Amino acid sequence: MIMRFLWYNHYKMRSMDVMVLKRLDILLIICFMVLSFIPQLVFTMNNNNYSDKYVEIKVNGKVYKNIDFQKLEESMIVEINNKNGHNEILISKDCIKMISANCRDGICLKEGEISKVGERIVCLPHNVIVSIKGKNNEFDEDIIVR
Ligand SMILES: [Zn+2]
Repeated sequence: MIMRFLWYNHYKMRSMDVMVLKRLDILLIICFMVLSFIPQLVFTMNNNNYSDKYVEIKVNGKVYKNIDFQKLEESMIVEINNKNGHNEILISKDCIKMISANCRDGICLKEGEISKVGERIVCLPHNVIVSIKGKNNEFDEDIIVR
Protein backbone atom coordinates (compact mmCIF):
# COMPACT_ATOMS: atom_id res chain seq x y z
CA MET A 1 0.00 0.00 0.00
CA ILE A 2 2.73 2.45 1.01
CA MET A 3 4.78 1.31 -1.92
CA ARG A 4 1.89 1.94 -4.27
CA PHE A 5 1.35 5.38 -2.79
CA LEU A 6 5.03 6.23 -3.16
CA TRP A 7 5.08 4.96 -6.68
CA TYR A 8 2.02 6.99 -7.50
CA ASN A 9 3.57 10.11 -6.01
CA HIS A 10 6.77 9.44 -7.78
CA TYR A 11 4.99 9.07 -11.06
CA LYS A 12 2.99 12.22 -10.46
CA MET A 13 6.10 14.19 -9.62
CA ARG A 14 7.84 13.00 -12.71
CA SER A 15 5.04 14.06 -14.94
CA MET A 16 5.03 17.44 -13.23
CA ASP A 17 8.74 17.73 -13.76
CA VAL A 18 8.26 17.06 -17.41
CA MET A 19 5.65 19.77 -17.61
CA VAL A 20 7.87 22.25 -15.79
CA LEU A 21 10.74 21.34 -18.10
CA LYS A 22 8.57 21.88 -21.13
CA ARG A 23 7.57 25.29 -19.84
CA LEU A 24 11.22 26.10 -19.21
CA ASP A 25 12.02 24.98 -22.72
CA ILE A 26 9.46 27.32 -24.18
CA LEU A 27 10.77 30.14 -22.03
CA LEU A 28 14.31 29.39 -23.14
CA ILE A 29 13.28 29.32 -26.77
CA ILE A 30 11.56 32.69 -26.38
CA CYS A 31 14.63 34.04 -24.61
CA PHE A 32 16.88 32.86 -27.42
CA MET A 33 14.59 34.34 -30.03
CA VAL A 34 14.61 37.69 -28.27
CA LEU A 35 18.37 37.52 -27.78
CA SER A 36 18.99 36.76 -31.41
CA PHE A 37 17.22 39.97 -32.40
CA ILE A 38 19.30 42.15 -30.11
CA PRO A 39 22.46 42.39 -32.27
CA GLN A 40 20.32 43.41 -35.22
CA LEU A 41 18.54 46.03 -33.14
CA VAL A 42 21.80 47.41 -31.82
CA PHE A 43 23.17 47.47 -35.35
CA THR A 44 20.27 49.49 -36.72
CA MET A 45 20.33 51.82 -33.77
CA ASN A 46 24.05 52.38 -34.19
CA ASN A 47 23.62 53.38 -37.79
CA ASN A 48 20.53 55.48 -37.74
CA ASN A 49 19.85 56.78 -34.29
CA TYR A 50 23.13 58.16 -33.10
CA SER A 51 22.34 60.64 -30.40
CA ASP A 52 25.78 62.12 -30.85
CA LYS A 53 26.84 62.78 -34.38
CA TYR A 54 28.76 65.60 -35.92
CA VAL A 55 29.81 66.74 -39.34
CA GLU A 56 33.46 66.81 -40.24
CA ILE A 57 34.65 69.00 -43.11
CA LYS A 58 38.05 68.12 -44.48
CA VAL A 59 39.96 70.29 -46.94
CA ASN A 60 43.14 68.97 -48.52
CA GLY A 61 43.18 66.06 -46.09
CA LYS A 62 43.07 68.26 -43.01
CA VAL A 63 40.13 68.85 -40.70
CA TYR A 64 38.75 72.28 -41.56
CA LYS A 65 35.76 72.27 -39.24
CA ASN A 66 33.79 69.98 -36.92
CA ILE A 67 30.21 71.00 -36.32
CA ASP A 68 27.73 69.59 -33.82
CA PHE A 69 24.95 70.07 -36.36
CA GLN A 70 22.20 68.49 -34.28
CA LYS A 71 22.47 71.28 -31.74
CA LEU A 72 22.05 74.02 -34.32
CA GLU A 73 19.09 76.32 -33.74
CA GLU A 74 19.23 77.68 -37.27
CA SER A 75 20.82 76.34 -40.39
CA MET A 76 24.18 77.77 -41.36
CA ILE A 77 26.35 77.95 -44.43
CA VAL A 78 30.01 77.04 -44.34
CA GLU A 79 32.03 78.67 -47.09
CA ILE A 80 35.31 77.23 -48.23
CA ASN A 81 37.54 79.39 -50.38
CA ASN A 82 40.98 78.14 -51.23
CA LYS A 83 43.25 77.86 -54.20
CA ASN A 84 41.22 74.88 -55.43
CA GLY A 85 37.99 76.86 -55.68
CA HIS A 86 34.84 77.71 -53.86
CA ASN A 87 32.35 75.54 -51.97
CA GLU A 88 29.30 76.34 -49.91
CA ILE A 89 27.83 73.75 -47.59
CA LEU A 90 24.43 74.14 -46.01
CA ILE A 91 24.34 72.67 -42.54
CA SER A 92 21.09 72.31 -40.65
CA LYS A 93 19.81 70.24 -37.76
CA ASP A 94 18.44 67.51 -40.05
CA CYS A 95 20.67 67.42 -43.08
CA ILE A 96 23.81 68.59 -44.80
CA LYS A 97 24.00 69.59 -48.44
CA MET A 98 26.46 71.11 -50.88
CA ILE A 99 24.62 74.12 -52.26
CA SER A 100 27.28 75.87 -54.27
CA ALA A 101 30.54 74.86 -55.90
CA ASN A 102 32.50 76.04 -58.89
CA CYS A 103 34.21 72.72 -59.46
CA ARG A 104 34.42 71.37 -62.98
CA ASP A 105 32.40 68.17 -62.51
CA GLY A 106 29.67 69.39 -60.15
CA ILE A 107 29.29 65.89 -58.71
CA CYS A 108 29.21 67.18 -55.13
CA LEU A 109 26.14 69.26 -55.95
CA LYS A 110 24.34 66.20 -57.24
CA GLU A 111 25.05 64.08 -54.18
CA GLY A 112 22.06 65.52 -52.37
CA GLU A 113 21.44 65.60 -48.67
CA ILE A 114 23.17 63.53 -46.04
CA SER A 115 22.03 62.97 -42.49
CA LYS A 116 23.23 59.54 -41.36
CA VAL A 117 26.49 58.44 -39.82
CA GLY A 118 28.82 57.19 -42.53
CA GLU A 119 27.33 59.27 -45.32
CA ARG A 120 29.52 61.80 -47.09
CA ILE A 121 29.71 64.37 -49.83
CA VAL A 122 32.95 64.54 -51.73
CA CYS A 123 34.15 67.33 -53.98
CA LEU A 124 37.08 65.64 -55.63
CA PRO A 125 38.39 68.54 -57.74
CA HIS A 126 38.52 70.80 -54.66
CA ASN A 127 39.62 68.05 -52.27
CA VAL A 128 36.72 68.74 -49.90
CA ILE A 129 35.14 65.91 -47.93
CA VAL A 130 32.04 66.44 -45.82
CA SER A 131 31.19 63.43 -43.69
CA ILE A 132 28.92 62.62 -40.80
CA LYS A 133 30.53 60.83 -37.93
CA GLY A 134 29.25 59.28 -34.76
CA LYS A 135 30.99 60.07 -31.55
CA ASN A 136 32.80 57.21 -29.82
CA ASN A 137 32.67 55.08 -32.91
CA GLU A 138 35.75 55.02 -35.04
CA PHE A 139 35.09 52.10 -37.35
CA ASP A 140 31.63 53.09 -38.46
CA GLU A 141 32.67 55.21 -41.40
CA ASP A 142 34.73 52.34 -42.74
CA ILE A 143 31.81 49.94 -42.75
CA ILE A 144 29.37 52.12 -44.65
CA VAL A 145 30.85 53.73 -47.71
CA ARG A 146 28.56 55.62 -49.99
ZN1 LIG B 1 32.51 69.57 -56.43
